[in-house]
Amino acid sequence: MTAMIPYGRQDISESDIDQVVQVLRSDYLTQGPIVPRFEEEVARYCGAKHAVATNSATAALHVACLALRVGPGDSVWTSPTTFVASANCALYCGAQVDFVDIDPYTYNMSVPCLTKKLVRARIDGTLPKVVIPVHLCGQSCDMEAIHSLAQEYGFRIVEDASHAIGGKYRGQPVGNCRFSDVTVFSFHPVKVITTGEGGMALTNDPLLARSMQQYRSHGVTNDSSEMKPRPEDEIWNYQQIRIGYNYRMTDILAALGVSQLSRLNEFVCVRHAIADYYDRALADFPLTIPGQHPDAYSSYHLYPIRVTAKRCGKTQQQIYRGLHAAGVLVNLHYIPVYRQPFYEQMGFGAGYCPEAERYYKETLSLPMFPSLSCQQQQRVVSALAEVLSL
Ligand SMILES: *Cc1c(COP(=O)(O)O)cnc(C)c1O
Repeated sequence: MTAMIPYGRQDISESDIDQVVQVLRSDYLTQGPIVPRFEEEVARYCGAKHAVATNSATAALHVACLALRVGPGDSVWTSPTTFVASANCALYCGAQVDFVDIDPYTYNMSVPCLTKKLVRARIDGTLPKVVIPVHLCGQSCDMEAIHSLAQEYGFRIVEDASHAIGGKYRGQPVGNCRFSDVTVFSFHPVKVITTGEGGMALTNDPLLARSMQQYRSHGVTNDSSEMKPRPEDEIWNYQQIRIGYNYRMTDILAALGVSQLSRLNEFVCVRHAIADYYDRALADFPLTIPGQHPDAYSSYHLYPIRVTAKRCGKTQQQIYRGLHAAGVLVNLHYIPVYRQPFYEQMGFGAGYCPEAERYYKETLSLPMFPSLSCQQQQRVVSALAEVLSL
């Protein structure tokens, strides 16, 4: 039997392994010098002032919302076409979540839909405190437009860039926070670079950075300027000043992150070559290849194709089954978050965001990862041709 081809996988080199082993032999496994080094290097790569490493992007989204003071009575808006974590972070804070439909070409949050929803919310008094645009597949949202709406309607912005490290918007790295308050990356193994589990929140605002650092580590500070003056326990060097969590990254994982970051440009370059190959090989297939906005340089975390029974004679599910039978493990990214049973029980239902629902019914992510060989790409394309009887 031929080997299965997953939709995504990590690429770990001998030098990645060596850097992790070095930490295992050192004095510090968790809070040593490597986490701050990884933070500095990601901040420098992206052109942001501050970076706060966490043990997942989910944790980074949570501390970002907390630092922006999201709480009960507030509303947070995100895209329905995303992983559930983009929405769950608001619920962790006791806030409400709502969804803005996607653009039919880029699949990112639609600026016209966002504008329309804001106009209505201003009248109804239900404006969001935070909007979380998601850079789906690694392609940046139209951040300048979303930022100017933020100025007009008074909301804050957290970019969920879990897919998009290494991507660019108008020639500048995603993560520079020029048009947002915070940008979040994920280092889960299917993402562009990995630390096993891990995430990071970037910002240019020193107060937000400080606040996220505290939420990351139990709400504890050892900075005397933040402590309550207590002469009697002056020699003890820490105080808990708010409620926080244990969301810290370890030095073991940060070492993998530092090493993977040094390979990021090469990874993105290979991902582009794979996308170019698919673009050309599928040009005459009765399906839609992912649209690229001229302002965005994608990191190509994912390569989603769209199929309709009307155009290609097969449904999405038939194609999914046919490709899996051929060992090509395509996947769907994503079911609209509000169609999850947990969200439906909050009152959301089918049809709430029509474009996101069409995407859900028509899309499959093809295998896309740096070690995908030419031969494997050819296998993907010929399996697809066979399933479509081309
Ligand atoms: C993977 C992912 C997350 C969560 O990342 P973790 O690091 O696994 O917590 C959040 N948002 C999006 C869009 C993702 O793809």
